[in-house]
Amino acid sequence: MGTGPVVAIVAVAVVVAVLIVFTRRRADLRESEESSYQKGLDALIAGDREAALKHLALTVREDPRNVDAYVKLGNLLRERGQTKQAIQIHRELLVKRRLPAGVRSEVAKNLALDYAEARRWADVIRQVRELPRGERSDERMLALARDAYEAVGDFDRAIARHRDILKSGKSEEPSLGVYRAHAAVLALERGDSVRARSEFQTALKEDPAAAVASLYLGDIAAGAGDLERATGYWMKLVADRPDCAHLVFDRLEKAYYELGDFGRMMSIYQDVAAKAPTSVHTHRGLSRMLERKGDIEGAIEAAREAVKHEGDTLAGHRQLVDVLVRSERFEEAARAAEELLSARALAGDEHPCPACGRRREKPGWRCPHCGAWTDAC
Ligand SMILES: [Zn+2]
Repeated sequence: MGTGPVVAIVAVAVVVAVLIVFTRRRADLRESEESSYQKGLDALIAGDREAALKHLALTVREDPRNVDAYVKLGNLLRERGQTKQAIQIHRELLVKRRLPAGVRSEVAKNLALDYAEARRWADVIRQVRELPRGERSDERMLALARDAYEAVGDFDRAIARHRDILKSGKSEEPSLGVYRAHAAVLALERGDSVRARSEFQTALKEDPAAAVASLYLGDIAAGAGDLERATGYWMKLVADRPDCAHLVFDRLEKAYYELGDFGRMMSIYQDVAAKAPTSVHTHRGLSRMLERKGDIEGAIEAAREAVKHEGDTLAGHRQLVDVLVRSERFEEAARAAEELLSARALAGDEHPCPACGRRREKPGWRCPHCGAWTDAC
């Protein structure tokens, strides 16, 4: 046997050995890639965001071609408030990769969500505009565009987008009238009372749920020095929604006092007390009026009625203690105060947002803190 065949056999053996080692390594690598991606997906399903973040970060390091891992990584970062990193990841995918149309749209929508989270509203508007037409009418994108137009004060477009959302059906968004009233509050905040007034008026015609618009219309009239008209609007709220009447009681008291018609307030309180007998603010107001007139027994009786319905505000107790102290019935006052102290901590009159629990400074249809839609009073 010559040396030729031996060399050939050895050479083949070496090649085979190298191939085996090489493919095994590749297989190992692929297995670990698959497993960190798979672990990431499993963690997402299990709701363990920290673990998902760790595994997906590992996935993209091992295999930078895994677009889905990048998209999900960006979304996790956005949810953690790391919007800068989320924007960077999603933007780079759009700019540097050739993506199939469907994937491209998904990345672009997530980038729009990143911008919204970062409150970069002009970028949200641009990003949504760049989406293909069909993708733009996705309800989530319509809401995003609406909120962005709202934030930059473009109320025509915001209202138009809200109309599109309602047309798309299956939505838990408020009616057009309520949305318009909400936009009017924002216009008023921006100092555009002319725009605000016309939107509030339209809103009142569109939906009875926008009744609190009358409060703002009254404020606008009072601001322009027209107290007669202002009381007309505030009384409209009292008539339309007796359960919201407490929002305008202080305004009405002050206005009727200035108009020299303070007695009017008494009959308003009595009317509302008949229509909304559990309204603690009404009994409290009535109690204050009776006290001023010198009818202490009547004032105490009204305050006790307020106590029955006061709930967390403890507004009835406060009025009762006040009346008793002012009429020097200190022992009774002390007992009422004791009850007050043993009750829960004194809460403000403002209703907290049912969604996030934070306090709203003025009546409105949307929580300024979390964006949840709420009842205006
Ligand atoms: Zn809220």
